[in-house]
Amino acid sequence: MTVELSNISKRFGSIVAVDDVSLTIENGEFLILVGPSGCGKTTTLRMIAGLEKPSSGRIYFDGDDVTQFSPQQRHIAFVFQNYALYPHMTTRKNMSFALEDQDIPSDEVAQRVTSTADKLGITDQLDQRPGELSGGQQQRVALGRSIVRNPSVFLLDEPLSNLDAKLRTNMRAELQELHQDLETTMVYVTHDQEEAMTMGDRIAVMDEGTIQQVAPPNEAYNQPANRFVAGFIGSPSMNFFDASLDDGRVRAGPFTLPTPDRVSGPLSELGIRPEDVSVTPTATGEDVSATVTVFEQVGSSNIIYLEIDGETMIAETDASVQLAPGDDVGVSLDTERVHLFDRGGDAVHS
Ligand code: ATP
Repeated sequence: MTVELSNISKRFGSIVAVDDVSLTIENGEFLILVGPSGCGKTTTLRMIAGLEKPSSGRIYFDGDDVTQFSPQQRHIAFVFQNYALYPHMTTRKNMSFALEDQDIPSDEVAQRVTSTADKLGITDQLDQRPGELSGGQQQRVALGRSIVRNPSVFLLDEPLSNLDAKLRTNMRAELQELHQDLETTMVYVTHDQEEAMTMGDRIAVMDEGTIQQVAPPNEAYNQPANRFVAGFIGSPSMNFFDASLDDGRVRAGPFTLPTPDRVSGPLSELGIRPEDVSVTPTATGEDVSATVTVFEQVGSSNIIYLEIDGETMIAETDASVQLAPGDDVGVSLDTERVHLFDRGGDAVHS
């Protein structure tokens, strides 16, 4: 089902939680809503679910205006962070109970529960109660309860945040497989940019109630629309320097670069991702001299904190580079990979 938000706003008293959001989620798409705490993600999801009425704007499902529909009329499934399973019911009952309000013959209910449990790998847990299950198993039951309803849209609000890091990584992959299998439209809320980057067809990055960019994860990473998206997506975060155009060159903090062709208007900031910063043991040519303050080996790469004229910047290098705190090094930027922003924070594109 296609979900269209058209100029949606939601106010709680004087707080504008969602501010004139327009967004179309395609049929069968896996869309991630990501942004910092309080940016309006959950409120947006709750409006799609019908749990919250927009203060203004319309919501369409497959072109039909559902703005005034109750949650029951919308045929959606909502999976929460805290699972909300019934503690006294078995897995089987928790799942079949979700179908009680739908007039479905009992043999079909049983069949749906069995095939869903099989899909989610919880067949052996069908007769156990939530208290006897691990966090990951409980999360699967919560998903299963939604899947048996065969909804037109899945809405998931931070469904993995109560799981430990390893299980979370596994469940991310499982959710993607599940989406490929079900081919149902999914809207997934998270504040975790890493989670957003590893899942989903597109991500919608929100800040202060507004959508900053909607794009496939790689595009948001490589061509952030503005300073907010550039700083929010990616870990370690992008380095930023105040920048200006000066006599055909870009001056950014300690760095001076040739002006890329795409630049025309006034500049305010330059951003460079840690992996686009080169660090060499000795400064040569146009390299800027820096001192290593922290050297972290994270397995596949090294994270290097550098101090240049009292400013800190972060570089990420190949694991073979060996340095130690106190080492003097040369630093240069990959000119092709710099991000430039104007005074309003918008990316300066060609
Ligand atoms: P989080 O990741 O912390 O859940 P979020 O991005 O999902 O954050 P929302 O829960 O949508 O953000 O909240 C957006 C803003 O609206 C916040 O300032 C919040 O305090 C406010 N808000 C949300 N629900 C209500 C409510 N029922 N009454 C008053 N203010 C609310």
